[in-house]
Amino acid sequence: MYREKTIKELKEDLKEGKITADDLYGKSLRLAHYFQDDYNSFVTILDDTKVKERETLIGGIPYALKDNFSTTGILTTGSSNILKDYVPVYDATVYKKLKRAGATLVGKTVLDELAMGGTGTTGATGIVKNPWDKERMIGGSSAGSAAAVALGIVPFSIGSDTGDSVRKPAAFGGLVGFKPTYGRISRYGMFAFASSLDHVAMFTKTVEDAAIVTDILKGQDPLDMTTLKDDGKKYSELVTEEPKGKKLFYIKEICDKELYKDSKEVTEVLTKFHELLDKCRQEGFTIEEVSIDKDLLNAIYPTYMCISCAEATSNNANLTGIQFGPRGEGDSIEEIIFDARTKGFSELIKRRFVLGSFILQKENQDKLFLNAQRVRRLLVEKITELFKEYDGMILPASGGIAPKFTDSSEKLSDRYLLLENHLAIGNFGGFPSITIPYGMVEDMPIGLNITGRIKEDDEVLKLAYQVEKLTGYKGIYSKVGDIDV
Ligand code: GLN
Repeated sequence: MYREKTIKELKEDLKEGKITADDLYGKSLRLAHYFQDDYNSFVTILDDTKVKERETLIGGIPYALKDNFSTTGILTTGSSNILKDYVPVYDATVYKKLKRAGATLVGKTVLDELAMGGTGTTGATGIVKNPWDKERMIGGSSAGSAAAVALGIVPFSIGSDTGDSVRKPAAFGGLVGFKPTYGRISRYGMFAFASSLDHVAMFTKTVEDAAIVTDILKGQDPLDMTTLKDDGKKYSELVTEEPKGKKLFYIKEICDKELYKDSKEVTEVLTKFHELLDKCRQEGFTIEEVSIDKDLLNAIYPTYMCISCAEATSNNANLTGIQFGPRGEGDSIEEIIFDARTKGFSELIKRRFVLGSFILQKENQDKLFLNAQRVRRLLVEKITELFKEYDGMILPASGGIAPKFTDSSEKLSDRYLLLENHLAIGNFGGFPSITIPYGMVEDMPIGLNITGRIKEDDEVLKLAYQVEKLTGYKGIYSKVGDIDV
């Protein structure tokens, strides 16, 4: 069955002539349309992509792209009203590379507006539902990209991750979500949210598939000065090898069961986490508990908000309705811009821009923006120091299963915040970081995260590949729907 297959398996089917790339595209399109009303993965479904049978790792494989990547001639909204009719005139490097490799673009996916948010509910292009339970969120901001893979519409999809936007929905959707090292993949043509934290990231069903997609996407790009020189490694060939070290740590203050005794859900997540750690230990991993100053950890969220809102305010200053998007009304340029931005952005975005402007005000800059940068550095230094002794950090990607639409955000009390926000460490330091599914709680998938040393993407993939073998949840997807393709 198409839906359950990985990139690697589909590629083998193609090679053996069991199926054609046209067939794969046809199946994917049927699924995309079939599930659209119920789950809303897509802003745009592309019914006439040119299919190419290329002999690359992903030639002929269908995929979905988050709607904040620029695609020439294809509507690209960022799920925001301010870009609701925007059709780009250039290609994002990621899109160009995937096209060149012969992957088939099936659609552009729904996000939280301009990639800000984590629920999949704030975009102007509608709410995305969780394929494992329609009453629940899939998480965001790369919501549609996550849902499309969890439904088996495509075997992989591309998202962006500024704080956790791929690695968190991956956990809620039973997927692998990988964010390589900062600069490993070009961000040219991906709408900037917070440039010092933004990463291209991907959803797949297996760690091996994540290595395959990264092989296609990685490399230096003259159009993105933050890209790294290519390391010349083929992750897809290395990923099955033993990692060079298997010594991991988890942070006591984040996953101490004692702290969460009053929550059944968090307790179950943590019990399963510690059970898996024991299994890993039996298979030769060394996993130790380390302690980090709680004040420093509690600063993750405010630090993330200060930096990301400040950068977002500046990056999105070009959304005026003048160059792109619906033109505002008014008698002066100020009035026109004011009107366009008033109508174009939702409350959440406006709130963040107000925060960002406040943080960047001259009199507040040192106290807020620069202080946040200092705290960011302290955190990154602490983790980097631990990475001298340890090969990676392992933690639950979230303290719970995907929230219900009706859950109030107050559920996230102070204690839960640490479990919910630590993924931003990966963005602060640009560390390669991957989420993989490791169990089910109340019939919903849960995910764990492994973060490793900067530029050692291959080692993180190898570690995740070894742990994936022990979880018993490799390659899962939601079997929902009565459709046979
Ligand atoms: N949920 C985080 C936020 O709201 C992360 C978003 C992201 O990674 N794009 O900003």
